[in-house]
Amino acid sequence: MTRSKARTLSQIAPLIIQSEIRAMSVECERAGGINMAQGICDTELPAQVAEGAIEAIHEGRNIYTRLDGIAPLRAAIAEKLARRNGINADPEKEILVTNGATGALYASALALLNPGDEVILFEPFYGYHWSTMLALRVKPVAVPLAAPEWALDVDSLRAAITPKTRAIIINTPLNPSGKVFSRIELESVAALAIEHDLMVFTDEIYENFLFDGVEHISLATLPGMAERTITISGFSKTFSITGWRLGYMVAPASLIPAIGYFHDLTYICAPSALQYGALKGMLELPDSFYDGLRGEYQQKRDQTCAALTAAGLHPTLPKGAYYILAEAAKVPGNTASERARALLAATGVASVPGSAFFVEGGETLLRFCFGKRQPDLDRACEALSRYA
Ligand code: PMP
Repeated sequence: MTRSKARTLSQIAPLIIQSEIRAMSVECERAGGINMAQGICDTELPAQVAEGAIEAIHEGRNIYTRLDGIAPLRAAIAEKLARRNGINADPEKEILVTNGATGALYASALALLNPGDEVILFEPFYGYHWSTMLALRVKPVAVPLAAPEWALDVDSLRAAITPKTRAIIINTPLNPSGKVFSRIELESVAALAIEHDLMVFTDEIYENFLFDGVEHISLATLPGMAERTITISGFSKTFSITGWRLGYMVAPASLIPAIGYFHDLTYICAPSALQYGALKGMLELPDSFYDGLRGEYQQKRDQTCAALTAAGLHPTLPKGAYYILAEAAKVPGNTASERARALLAATGVASVPGSAFFVEGGETLLRFCFGKRQPDLDRACEALSRYA
């Protein structure tokens, strides 16, 4: 076929590969396996959240909302941020309801970053963060965290900062390692951000999934950081509604109009009726609901770690989120991708190749998601235990 200008892809298209996470979900479906690959969290959503959305549809709340979201939801988010995160945000000027945490990062990055800017991410990283930067012609720069604690090496972070660095992306609790950044680590990041005049995007979508009594700290609460932090969170994980595409972000008032503009341009608004569902959940669910997630998921973490250990795959213990990175050198294969497929064939359990979270490396690691319904998790753990 002759080379067609019409069918020529953009320069960045070849850099963006389909996420290994989605690819493994497809393989899993083909094999009829149990999907511990994608972070879809197929647990039941709270009844109040479902009712709120259904009522809103019947009440005719099916048209575009204001571009920053419905006022009562922004007010509820502001109240939650003040009470649970210690962040004071004006719901009229500093909060945007977004199409998931994903839409929040995309719109913020479009509003703030230029092609050729550098943005630092901690590795292993969440692939969408990396690829979002690539999609915007921004250069992502990886600063490795060291296993098994995934500790931050401040000297490596300092060394990665160049005159082109515009921002740092922090994800805490972190997908895929389950690392939760400590106050001391966040203070080091804050000091460097202030010294080099950098923005920080913090993705706190797993803020309610915390184990062993660790504390979640929002970077924006540290002195001098609210003015240079974009705090991103959402409802996908906490309310088990990943398909609803509902999140939110907090940013300095001076940035919200530009970020809101790009969010409007891409999505117009977050889904209207679903915003009412999240609102009802926020207004009616007690604090015990959020605190209860810790106990439930810590039990699931421990069950999954025990099964992986029995299988001879060595898990690093996550302190948050609902993923486990496990050392899987014993599974046959030359790459993590081959190992993930070999494990799926042998056990019927799908995981994500560790290489999806590294620029280079991760070839002996596999990531397992334990955000599953209990019967599915039981089946997966039984199958893994038998792998020994
Ligand atoms: N951030 C992280 C770190 C995630 O793991 C995920 C889901 N895999 C998302 C964001 C996506 O969040 P949302 O559904 O709110 O876009």
